[in-house]
Amino acid sequence: MRPWEAYFRRVVPYVPGEQPQGSRLIKLNTNENPYPPAPGVAEALKHMDAELFRKYPDPAAAGLVKALADRYGLGMDQVFVGVGSDDVLAMAFLTFFNSGKPVLFPDVTYSFYPVWADLFGIPYETPALDEEFRINPRDYDRENGGVVFPNPNAPTGSFLPLEQVEDILRHNQDVAVIVDEAYIDFGGSSAISLLGQYENLLVVQTFSKSRSMAGMRIGYAFGSPALIRALEDVKYSYNSYTMNLPSILLGVEAVKDEAYFRQTTGKIVEVREKAKARFRALGFEFPDSAANFLFVKHRTVPARELFEALRRQQIYVRYFDKPRISDYLRVTIGTEEEMEALFAFLESYLN
Ligand code: PMP
Repeated sequence: MRPWEAYFRRVVPYVPGEQPQGSRLIKLNTNENPYPPAPGVAEALKHMDAELFRKYPDPAAAGLVKALADRYGLGMDQVFVGVGSDDVLAMAFLTFFNSGKPVLFPDVTYSFYPVWADLFGIPYETPALDEEFRINPRDYDRENGGVVFPNPNAPTGSFLPLEQVEDILRHNQDVAVIVDEAYIDFGGSSAISLLGQYENLLVVQTFSKSRSMAGMRIGYAFGSPALIRALEDVKYSYNSYTMNLPSILLGVEAVKDEAYFRQTTGKIVEVREKAKARFRALGFEFPDSAANFLFVKHRTVPARELFEALRRQQIYVRYFDKPRISDYLRVTIGTEEEMEALFAFLESYLN
């Protein structure tokens, strides 16, 4: 080791899903939306003049903040935007989890949480989900430095009913509670309705899934003005211009088109419900999912074997070689045609 290397920050990074290139593959591994963004996005892009990029964007991204505030019936002082919800969540960890007490999140959950905690030196504990991968709110009654969980959870897809989210909030009023709703638009009910009662609640959402804009990197958070102000202060202490101009302008277009949003999320839910029956018929079991993916385990065939067999067919799904979940595959809901190709292969492989 060279002497200066001794001073490096040593981290074990998060490993994002593969982004294989090519037009013939079927990509069901990173929970992207199979439909294009709202038509207004393509239209606005056509008219975007490169001259616009000469100047810095609005550091407050006010156009996008206003569009989101209007859509969700909140004040602009209750909205924070960032470069994907990963950016928003990282900023929230940095801003809110400074008590020195352990932050709580489930043992099986979004694998970025422990990475941010380690990066920022935040202690954490991971209460185990039950056998069916459900959160027990009672596990969150102990003393802690904050709580964060996705709802629906990832990679399981399980939705925690809002009464139980509120139960966790009721028992954790002295710390920030972050509900990561990356997948909420596929059937769950949002904790946004609890914002009025709990000033310590931060609800985080994203344009990457239900709004088909993973490539644009737009995430946002809703919370009390006190929480949002604190997030803004940290953001402006780090990088004022997080949101690039195309993200701001095109994000507004996506939020405007409510009909398209309902149509495409509705279609994904419909295809997901059919996929549940197909997987069941093939001998798979899974926690019930309210997300745009299913977390499936075959009765006899190991997940890793299926993962590799699918990959040879250019069908990409996600496999996590981790405790408790190494028997499972996470399969994103694609188009009807993509799911048909997946099931056609599984039928021939398994029979
Ligand atoms: N939260 C959860 C639970 C996720 O699965 C993801 C997707 N990897 C994210 C947040 C981050 O998504 P993005 O940064 O694209 O908004």
